[in-house]
Amino acid sequence: MLGAIIGDIVGSRFEFVEEDNRGKDFAFFTKSCRFTDDSCMTLAIAKALFLCKGDYSKLRQNTISCMQELGRAYPNAGYGYNFYHNWLMSSNPKPYNSYGNGSAMRVSPVAWVAESEEQLKELSLMVTDITHNHPEGIKGAEAIAMGIYLARLGKSKEEIREKLSVYYPILKDKFFTIKSLRGNYGYDFAGGWVTCQGSVPQAIIAFLESENFEDAIRNAVCIGGDSDTIGAMAGSIAEAYYGVSYDMEDRALEYLPEDLKSIYYAFNIIKGKRRNKSE
Ligand SMILES: [Mg+2]
Repeated sequence: MLGAIIGDIVGSRFEFVEEDNRGKDFAFFTKSCRFTDDSCMTLAIAKALFLCKGDYSKLRQNTISCMQELGRAYPNAGYGYNFYHNWLMSSNPKPYNSYGNGSAMRVSPVAWVAESEEQLKELSLMVTDITHNHPEGIKGAEAIAMGIYLARLGKSKEEIREKLSVYYPILKDKFFTIKSLRGNYGYDFAGGWVTCQGSVPQAIIAFLESENFEDAIRNAVCIGGDSDTIGAMAGSIAEAYYGVSYDMEDRALEYLPEDLKSIYYAFNIIKGKRRNKSE
């Protein structure tokens, strides 16, 4: 969850900024960074899980209320048109067959409370199909959640790649690399880069090719496109794999208002431990 927030904040100033030669050595936190919908909806799911107190039969309803509550409290966080007008502001919100990457950018908290792969898939579906009931929307969220869950358990990158290739076989393609994406990605005017299928595999490769937490975010942002969301997705897996320094956590939390910070701290109480790879 913290990784998603950091990726969102760092990527926020690059969202849809087209630059052919964006390097990896950009300034990480700047004054023009902000939290966006990715952090806000991630925290809404964290709050919904927290309110369940272990009884996830109410998770769908709690997620709807928490997403509407926080989304309406921060209406300028950068939501997609359909999500904002037809769901967030609706008195009777219904799923709208979306396969946008909004499902995958907000899912990370479920991977920190799930106690088995089976439960992970159930919880991921419950926080997803309230909006993104298209198979690609459900798949994108589950793939990111699975990556976080496996990293949390101390699995190796090769094990994670193997498992996530079931969702996206391109992850095994040796030509699918950050290097090959840079300069060739994020310029599709049909909007393909804001779909799950057009951005989740890119976020996963940003993590798989990284050397540390910060490098995963830099990989995610340097390819262009929907940078805050790709940063959020890559960061959420990288957090579980590498951990995040207290210093970076403090820097990121400075961007959040008090009410969102309280949700972050409350969720940390029920957040499962990251297991050391040496255990
Ligand atoms: Mg955003």
